[in-house]
Amino acid sequence: MTTHILGYPRIGEKRELKTASEAFWKGKISEAELQQTAERLRAAHWHAQKQAGIDYVACNDFSFYDQVLDTLCLVGAVPARFHWEGKGDVDLTTYFRMARGILAAEKACDCGHDHGPSEGVPALEMTKWFDTNYHYLVPELGPDTAFRLASRKPFNEFAEAKALGLRAKPVILGPVTFLSLAKATAPGFDRFSLLEKILPVYEETLRKLSAAGAEWVQLDEPVFALDLSAAQRAALEKAYARLAAAAPGLKILLATYFGPLQDNRDLFLSLPVAGYHIDAVRGAEEAAAVAGRVPEGKVLSVGVIDGRNIWKADLVPALALLNGVAERLGTERLWVAPSCSLLHAPVSLRAEQKIDPELKGWLAFAEEKLAEVRLLADALAGKDVSAPLRENAAALEARRQSPKIHRADVAARAAAVTPQDFSRQSPFPQRQARQHEHLKLPAFPTTTIGSFPQTAEVRAARAKWKKGELSNEAYEKFLKDEIAKTVRLQEELDIDMPVHGEFERNDMVEYFGEQLEGYAFTENGWVQSYGSRCVKPPILFGDVARRAPMTVSWSQYAQSLTKRPMKGMLTGPITMLQWSFVRDDQPRRLSATHLALALRDEVCDLEKAGLAAIQIDEPALREGLPLRRGEWEEYLGWAVDLFRLSAGGVKDETQIHTHMCYGEFNDILPSIARLDADVISIEASRSGMELLRGFADFKYPNEIGPGVWDIHSPRVPSQKEMEDLLRKALAVIPRRNLWANPDCGLKTRGWEEVVASLRNLVAAAKALREEN
Ligand code: GLN
Ligand code: ZN
Repeated sequence: MTTHILGYPRIGEKRELKTASEAFWKGKISEAELQQTAERLRAAHWHAQKQAGIDYVACNDFSFYDQVLDTLCLVGAVPARFHWEGKGDVDLTTYFRMARGILAAEKACDCGHDHGPSEGVPALEMTKWFDTNYHYLVPELGPDTAFRLASRKPFNEFAEAKALGLRAKPVILGPVTFLSLAKATAPGFDRFSLLEKILPVYEETLRKLSAAGAEWVQLDEPVFALDLSAAQRAALEKAYARLAAAAPGLKILLATYFGPLQDNRDLFLSLPVAGYHIDAVRGAEEAAAVAGRVPEGKVLSVGVIDGRNIWKADLVPALALLNGVAERLGTERLWVAPSCSLLHAPVSLRAEQKIDPELKGWLAFAEEKLAEVRLLADALAGKDVSAPLRENAAALEARRQSPKIHRADVAARAAAVTPQDFSRQSPFPQRQARQHEHLKLPAFPTTTIGSFPQTAEVRAARAKWKKGELSNEAYEKFLKDEIAKTVRLQEELDIDMPVHGEFERNDMVEYFGEQLEGYAFTENGWVQSYGSRCVKPPILFGDVARRAPMTVSWSQYAQSLTKRPMKGMLTGPITMLQWSFVRDDQPRRLSATHLALALRDEVCDLEKAGLAAIQIDEPALREGLPLRRGEWEEYLGWAVDLFRLSAGGVKDETQIHTHMCYGEFNDILPSIARLDADVISIEASRSGMELLRGFADFKYPNEIGPGVWDIHSPRVPSQKEMEDLLRKALAVIPRRNLWANPDCGLKTRGWEEVVASLRNLVAAAKALREEN
């Protein structure tokens, strides 16, 4: 029975790679020192795999920034703007320039994207890796792109593992997924036309690995979890016919993950490789059928341990699934693995000292998942593993029965939700009339998205308070002073709908999670988001309930300081779900229902406290979309319903806002409209209002605030610039529906830029009011 993994977290148990890379970027350590840290981390990660009894350790899964960027270097496709001299291998300076741009990178906002410098040479774009929260750098390919082998990384890391006496299996992103993830630099350019040119580099890589003594190489083609185009299918056939013949001694393991194969199954199994890896967590239902069709003599790697969550696996069904496969294939050709790379799980539970021990007993991070893989393989091999299997069963049973998870009141309330709860009292036109009468806002009302600068001072006060060095009273006074200052400033600037500034919040999900039953936090559960940036998603482990109002006192205090209508600010149920590790013992939809109900109570309490406008942020609505188009409708159906559930409890006069910060709406516009938020604010400035065309064609019915200030850049936009953007918006959006606001929250900006930009923004709105 063979065990292996598809990849391991690179960042290190104590985020050593983050510390070292950031020190290197600041010039505090040398490249050699950075390389030493990397080498130590790789050795430690291989050691953990070896210790756990993993037969093939993964190599070349390490990265200084991102595996797609590594692949781009491997094939030498450095875009011209980075001034790579083009001789020899891609050097580390060029590598980091592609990742971070030529000026120091900007601070990131909550959306998790690094938006790059505003001037100088912009970094490669970044986007989400399939449906994970990991971001990869987007290769840029055009008719002039030339390829050649320009990195020794796979060979060096293989040699490094070999020197440590390990059996290592190099991991490389396959050519078709690489081309699929790239963006074309020329309009209409067909990326797959480059296949002929890129394949020789892959062939050379395979030959070199074979010469170095590699037995297997894992080529990742997660595009198999997507709807494949004819061009992708043809490219896969051609690529693997060539690669399978490239290095006769070297066996290829073709890996897909993040979803079942479905209609791609025949193509996948027809490719002439030596072994196949499937995701048997998301594709559990088809695993037996796939096993039944694996060609004679070939290996099937079955990914039964979920690489994307933090829960102990239920080993009973996993073992049953593996047994079913073994009956068809025998145990010789069956490999046991996690579903995907463990990159998406935190490193180890070892450092979690503060977490509730009962909850800890239900968890498995990357290191613990290695042991699960081994245990399953041993069980299949007929070894006596009854004791650890019993332990696993006991932990799962304890979790199933735990009163910490199940609350009868929450379950009853979720079960009692009716379609009426998804709707406001009256349709939008009536609500709009009432709100306009009630709020008495001028045309093009000005507002912001919620947060004001989270200065070092704000963060320091919070840190002191958390450590107990600042009393509750002192911290509260500090926050109230910040709020008061910010409200005064907004009055001075003449902002029509002010906000309190969100100074009390560390993070838009964590802040709410900390106040909800059913959420837990780790000390060290870091997962790489991109480059050196990690996130520590909270764990939604049980039925969610609100202990007490979460934001009301701050919003109410802010409202008490002004006659202007203050806007309350919440994170929506879908974003809470998307940015947490969530339960695997019930559908995501049900967890989101609990969240929506808790938020609904908060919305109603804000209304009672006198807030006339309440914003429910849903920046993660879009990223929850399933990988397959055919599943979009189902997801959007419940996701939109649950947003409506959170918003639906208020009177017509109360204005519900929502906010989203991305520029792709066209394919989900009907769902955006179905949210039925009275006002939506969106990111629009970088596209120069281009994206509003979609809203106009669709005749988006409700009010809308297209961002006129790109807050991802420190630049202060002029009044004229924002006026022009508003005018462009006015060409397609009815006057009564148009708001003036920035693209996103201001937490990453400095006060000076904020004051200057808001002043210009208000002036722009006023200038337009005069004209119209
Ligand atoms: N209200 C949040 C803020 O202003 C919204 C953040 C986001 O959209 N990512 O910071
Ligand atoms: Zn935003």
